[in-house]
Amino acid sequence: MIQQPAPKTPTFPLTDNLGRVINYVRLAVTDRCNLNCRYCRPKGPCSEPRRELLSYEELGRLTGLLVGMGIDKVRITGGEPLVRHGMLDFFRRLRAIQGLRQLALTTNATLLAPHLATLRELQLSGLNISLDTLKAERFAAITGQNLFAAVFEVIEEAIAAGIPVKINAVVQEDINTDELLDLARLAENRPIQVRFIEPMPFDGGSNFIAGTWNLARLEQHFRNHLPELTETPQVGSTARIFQPSGFTGSIGLIGGYSRCFCATCNKIRITPQGMLKTCLYDDGVLDLKEVLRTGATDGEIADLVRACLGRRHADGFAAASRRQQDGMAGSCASMATIGG
Ligand code: SAM
Repeated sequence: MIQQPAPKTPTFPLTDNLGRVINYVRLAVTDRCNLNCRYCRPKGPCSEPRRELLSYEELGRLTGLLVGMGIDKVRITGGEPLVRHGMLDFFRRLRAIQGLRQLALTTNATLLAPHLATLRELQLSGLNISLDTLKAERFAAITGQNLFAAVFEVIEEAIAAGIPVKINAVVQEDINTDELLDLARLAENRPIQVRFIEPMPFDGGSNFIAGTWNLARLEQHFRNHLPELTETPQVGSTARIFQPSGFTGSIGLIGGYSRCFCATCNKIRITPQGMLKTCLYDDGVLDLKEVLRTGATDGEIADLVRACLGRRHADGFAAASRRQQDGMAGSCASMATIGG
């Protein structure tokens, strides 16, 4: 259902109703994935009927339009982006968009190896790789695939190729919390950032329990066990970044469930089926696929997007409570169908 433009329409640079500048879009290019991570898809491979994705043509048009409106950073995510055929050509196409400064990829890295050289040529500005454990058996238990060695190898290759790498580890109580320091120490002699993500209720609808490893506990844990941490102030970042003394790289803490970065949130999302989300916790605010396929002009689409930003929730708590009022509580989608 297409929403009508709200009266308060922000102007360039792209801002929302609270004056937050929006310059970052996360494009989820597929909801399919070759892993079944226990916190994302606990029920196993996606069994939903294949719903039509936005085509590369449509994704390219939307990206160009958003860049014209003030977006200068695009992250490709999913699902696993590299399972979609033609991804590298799509990267090339995005790279040609004038005004797009940063093009980044989030991947599980299982299919990355053959594409590293091309991504480097395309000056990928950031490569986020999911890795929750350094133990091969545990990797298989978390993801459903025995691919730890291959993933670790490609991480080392990406670092050696000079691509800026971040590792994303979802903190899973009693599953990998005994390894948090080992994971953090990957950054000791490597120029990478290892980020620890609070688990979020986007697991396809199982009974989510937040657990006790929240942002505060994580910070205390690292302060207790790593050499002196200095926090690097960030603007518009999801992560709080800390530099342990003597480390080449850094560590990041992402309070996705604490929702402590909403006041400076600079990003929007487009799901694989083309829903615009102005907050991870909202239920989608504009069906861009419908808008595109009913012949809207660029100007009309831009107005609709601005209108959605004109009524953006103040934070993830407000967005989640709206979902509850709409009777959507407990029906949280998998992160793979949103674009994490
Ligand atoms: N397939 C890619 C990957 O594995 O990086 C990209 C998509 S994945 C959904 C993006 C990120 O979301 C990953 O770092 C993953 O660990 C994280 N994620 C998935 N489900 C999550 C959840 N329930 N809570 C917190 N993070 C989650």
